[in-house]
Amino acid sequence: MSYSKDLSRRLRGKKSVAFFIHREELIPQESPISPDFEVKVPPHPMKYPDHKGHKGSVYGGICNRTACSRAHATFYNRGTYGYYCAEDAIAINRHSGKAPLCIQVDHDLTHEEMNAHYRAMIEEMRP
Ligand SMILES: [Zn+2]
Repeated sequence: MSYSKDLSRRLRGKKSVAFFIHREELIPQESPISPDFEVKVPPHPMKYPDHKGHKGSVYGGICNRTACSRAHATFYNRGTYGYYCAEDAIAINRHSGKAPLCIQVDHDLTHEEMNAHYRAMIEEMRP
């Protein structure tokens, strides 16, 4: 058993420690605790960053933030065109000013819906 597998097995259930580990990226992205997600809508051409695979590109999948590997990414960031976990979405919105970057959604958005969300955000940002 590899060190990281053994570590994640021993830490299972110890939420606060596991949270710290995720933050420090000690568990690699291909960790077996991250399930594989089907990409239903290909990443938008404007999506940032351009992660390989499904990271940040699936509603309910793995968070788009590079240093985060949490699942349940149900918030959509109108600036990066990616999906984020609630913790990161709330943190991002704390610095977003009057128009929140992250909004809660309930399905995989089409590119047309993503473009509409971007335009709505620009409208909200007008003084
Ligand atoms: Zn996250």
